[in-house]
Amino acid sequence: MIDNLKRISDTIWEIPVSYKQGMRVPARIYGTEKLIQELDDAVYDQVTNVATLPGITKYALCMPDGHFGYGFPIGGVAAMDVEAGGVISPGGIGFDINCGMRLMVTNLTYDQVKPYIKKLVDRLYERVPAGVGSTGFVKLSRNEFCKVVEEGAQWCIRNGYGWEEDLELVEENGCIQGADASKISEKAIDRGFNQIGTLGSGNHYLEIQVARPENIYDQELARSLGITIPNQVVVMFHCGSRGFGHQVATDYLQTFLKVMESKYGIKILDRELACAPFNSPEGQAYFAAMKCGINMSFANRQVILHQIREVFSEILGRSPENLGMHMIYDVAHNTAKLERHIIDSQERSLLVHRKGATRAFAPGMKDVPERYKNIGQPVIIGGSMETGSYLLVGVPSGEQTFFSTAHGSGRTMSRAKARKIYRGEKLKKEMESRGIYVRSTSYSGLAEEAGGAYKDIDDVIEAAELAGISKRVVKLTPIGNIKG
Ligand code: 5GP
Ligand code: MN
Ligand code: MN
Repeated sequence: MIDNLKRISDTIWEIPVSYKQGMRVPARIYGTEKLIQELDDAVYDQVTNVATLPGITKYALCMPDGHFGYGFPIGGVAAMDVEAGGVISPGGIGFDINCGMRLMVTNLTYDQVKPYIKKLVDRLYERVPAGVGSTGFVKLSRNEFCKVVEEGAQWCIRNGYGWEEDLELVEENGCIQGADASKISEKAIDRGFNQIGTLGSGNHYLEIQVARPENIYDQELARSLGITIPNQVVVMFHCGSRGFGHQVATDYLQTFLKVMESKYGIKILDRELACAPFNSPEGQAYFAAMKCGINMSFANRQVILHQIREVFSEILGRSPENLGMHMIYDVAHNTAKLERHIIDSQERSLLVHRKGATRAFAPGMKDVPERYKNIGQPVIIGGSMETGSYLLVGVPSGEQTFFSTAHGSGRTMSRAKARKIYRGEKLKKEMESRGIYVRSTSYSGLAEEAGGAYKDIDDVIEAAELAGISKRVVKLTPIGNIKG
């Protein structure tokens, strides 16, 4: 903890502009006292660096799952006024552009799935390739891939990977407008064109979960979201734009470092915050390229969804329709999006960076899908492969964070430290004895992802709810997991 930290409420903590030269706005960190006590000191430095960026509006924010990241903390939110010189920064979006979570229901109960869990997980492990360099089953030419990055999940539906109804349940209907493939490098195409339909590595996962009756916090909301039977089985997965998004971010970090100071006179406190004015040729080029990353990721998750439906259908001998495999929602947590927000009673155009932070729009807001208009946008938050995850909704008081909330539980220790403390093989066996069947590409990778390497997800969700930035609906318990 730092001395200048001012307690605004039980879950909001502020660092004033006097903390560091160049801060344009105060920084605000969300979390219960316990979470703040545990917070990595580097986050204070990072979030106050973000507060110095041109155009930042109101506050530099960090969500309750915040931890150290590249430039911005993970859990960082920053809204830049694009009409007042606001910048766009890859470090505020993340290398894994549009990394996000997708959640789908089934009409099966835990008892019905339990006898098949190993078969399901083993087959999913084959059909949804995981690991660093994994390649997918969708064979695309480089030209066709350029179409995919402009058309996103809509390309997938046209090509038989999914149902028409899926699209309305994806942020941006699965295709963000303005993606321009002429703004991406050959190297980015090289890295991405064979990766559609792949999970990736690290903390990307595909998980079979159960909504236990005792873990439903709001029956009516749960019902409106499609959780309608006791011990209903759902499938959640987490992945992004793979090597493609990583390359787009890398390319434009280089570009921005070249022009930032010499051409635009922007001085930053950390090279990892490289940026350019949003309304500059470089800023606009990155915005259009980053949108390709967003669409690649939507397409990736759409193909994975299709594969999951096929596997369940094959193992259980019923069609995906018959198994009720409908989507709840797909939401990103690594993006920057142009949004209209009311600031001091004036509507302004803000570029909202959410890096390891989930958009959480309130009931009635324009981009909330029709079927959720009255209840708010679904928010999907991963916990860990051992402890559970959450489904929440956005609330009106989310206005304070530009309608953003947490995206996970957030790490408490480095991967290297986790590898020293945990043993993958032992962990796998222990998890199995507790009813969680896990497949992983490596035991050391599994050790890095132990539940104990993360903050307590219940603490994070409690903080998000108390602060009024999202409302919990149901906690989901893992029974099968594939780790990247
Ligand atoms: P990130 O987007 O920062 O890479 O990770 C998102 C969050 O997913 C992490 O903060 C962590 O809480 C959560 N997570 C990581 N691995 C798993 C997993 O295997 N299962 C579940 N349910 N959550 C996970
Ligand atoms: Mn990711
Ligand atoms: Mn992620």
